[in-house]
Amino acid sequence: MSKRTPLIAGNWKMNKTATEGVELVKALAAAVGIESSVNVVLCPPFTALSAVGAAIEGTHLGLGAQNMHDKTSGAFTGEISASMLRDLHVTHVIIGHSERRSIFGEDDAFANRKVLASLASSLKPILCVGELLSEREANQTMEVVRRQIELGLAGVPAAKAESLIIAYEPVWAIGTGKTATPAMAQEVHAFIRKLLAQQFGPETAARILILYGGSMKPDNADALLAEHDIDGGLIGGASLEAKSFVDLVRSAVKSVTR
Ligand code: PEP
Repeated sequence: MSKRTPLIAGNWKMNKTATEGVELVKALAAAVGIESSVNVVLCPPFTALSAVGAAIEGTHLGLGAQNMHDKTSGAFTGEISASMLRDLHVTHVIIGHSERRSIFGEDDAFANRKVLASLASSLKPILCVGELLSEREANQTMEVVRRQIELGLAGVPAAKAESLIIAYEPVWAIGTGKTATPAMAQEVHAFIRKLLAQQFGPETAARILILYGGSMKPDNADALLAEHDIDGGLIGGASLEAKSFVDLVRSAVKSVTR
């Protein structure tokens, strides 16, 4: 782990009502709510943002959304804009998650428009990238990640680059219990940082957080977080229960002091 402050972000996906979310937040707040050596962001469904936002008040826990639209307003039934998120005190937004890409057909160009719109509204985008199993087996991991980073970050102003967060999430590891080895993940994270350095310069690239996501659990987190370019985690399944999520936050705290 480097001098970057680690971030542990919980992606609740389509899980938890507002009431259930508040219950979970109470347990998290009691255990790690005043932890300040790492950042923790909860990304509930849109319907729970307001209640979770109220429940984290006075704690060090942050609020993120799982998606947004790039337009500011208009005839986009079912969609949510950056300003709507900002109005609920959301600070982070997941963009280009593999489930958005594979289930809802979202492409790199759409992810890019959302990244630009989120930055314009002072939201921190967590841009997800990662290869399919077939792409890894065909030795195309770096090519896929390069495309997703270059297209996803096209036109990002250098002055805003430090607000970017990248999540490397090998698709074959998401929700499968399979995880990239620390060495495999570090290799891709280092490659991503090289791409960021090409676009924004090495000093800026050194300050951008690159999270790992894909079946990160308490029993594999220490080893992943020990890698130089792994700055935290985007956590799906293990973010839904207080104990596993708290353990992950504690792993990140340990990685800072190691
Ligand atoms: C995710 O969906 O971003 C994710 C990493 O899920 P899981 O931790 O369940 O693999």
